[in-house]
Amino acid sequence: MSPPGRPETDRGSSEHSAKQVSAPAVELRGLSYAYPDGTPALSDVDVCIAHGEAVAVVGANGAGKSTLLQHLNGLLLPNQGEVAIDGLPVTRATLPRVRRSVGFVFQDADDQLFMPTVRDDVAFGPSNQGLQAQQVQARVSAALEAVGAAHLAKRAPYRLSGGEKRAVAIAGVLAMEPSILVLDEPSSGLDPAGRRRLIELLRSFSMTRVIATHDLDLVLAVCKRVLVMHEGRVVADGSPIDLFADLALLRRCHLEPPLGGTGGAGPAR
Ligand code: ADP
Repeated sequence: MSPPGRPETDRGSSEHSAKQVSAPAVELRGLSYAYPDGTPALSDVDVCIAHGEAVAVVGANGAGKSTLLQHLNGLLLPNQGEVAIDGLPVTRATLPRVRRSVGFVFQDADDQLFMPTVRDDVAFGPSNQGLQAQQVQARVSAALEAVGAAHLAKRAPYRLSGGEKRAVAIAGVLAMEPSILVLDEPSSGLDPAGRRRLIELLRSFSMTRVIATHDLDLVLAVCKRVLVMHEGRVVADGSPIDLFADLALLRRCHLEPPLGGTGGAGPAR
């Protein structure tokens, strides 16, 4: 079996029906989840995300952000309710198809990088998609180029800096050409220059993006929509500028207003 952020090899029926193409990129309906030890994490979440939207998920620690993200590629399956990707319900049976659409970038890049060189690591996904060697190499070069990491191709992933590892982890997912990119705390642990580069990179993408983060300046720079989570529920859904001006909401959800910067990038386009 492939690691969870990686594609499955099953080619299955990859053709999307007309219904699936017109369906939202992500649909969560009445989604509830408690961990096996009984800890409740999500409660009756309803969210619809259109193709191409960049949506932030914010909330204090323990609010349910990671749990929500992990439902988008079937790392977790709902206790109640339904998750659909491009109109396809996420079930054990549909995981291979779901994971061809949804690329997941983990908070800790060390969970994602495991091959001896950066090039091998980024090649892992497209190779498993059954592409020919030449196509794989083209995907690898394009993905490394996109994240500004072409010069790292021959390096060992475990010897890279935090920012370089994050860039390579994103390249590994981009190389599979997902239509939906899910990122868990992508700016955590980055120095200011690395964070600025990441913000520019995320702004440059046109695919659907779902980004869990504490970095409200990143949200302002990249996302036109933000979901605010509190105790397993989505308690607000709207534009970052409006919601971040709602000090009562932020206080209730144990969030700090952003400092006003956008990582030097200006508001989301
Ligand atoms: P966030 O990403 O917003 O910090 P999480 O989704 O990680 O929040 O956590 C939501 C709730 O689920 C919290 O109460 C957390 O303690 C709990 N939780 C997270 N992972 C597990 C786990 N593996 N087992 C039990 N409870 C968990």
